[in-house]
Amino acid sequence: MNNDGNDYIRISRRMALSGAAFALGSAAIAAAVSQAAAQQKISQADAKYQGTPKGNLHCDGCVNFQPPNACKFVQGDISPNGWCQLFAPRS
Ligand code: SF4
Repeated sequence: MNNDGNDYIRISRRMALSGAAFALGSAAIAAAVSQAAAQQKISQADAKYQGTPKGNLHCDGCVNFQPPNACKFVQGDISPNGWCQLFAPRS
């Protein structure tokens, strides 16, 4: 019998490595979930989106507008001439 403690060390390293891999996997999953949550958009109805400007305010002048027809925060097709209550003017 040759039990000089190497098996214990090998097992401990393996467990530590698998624990580290688990921790990395968990971090990656958490990051993906966080990113997905951040990328969720609200409905046009919830944003009170309308396809027409509100006075001089329109999506084309909003920091959230993503040409040609999208918005960072509102779902679906967004007209450059639309508007919603999340409007934030470009500076
Ligand atoms: S006003 Fe701004 S936040 Fe609202 S839909 Fe248009 S681009 Fe998006």
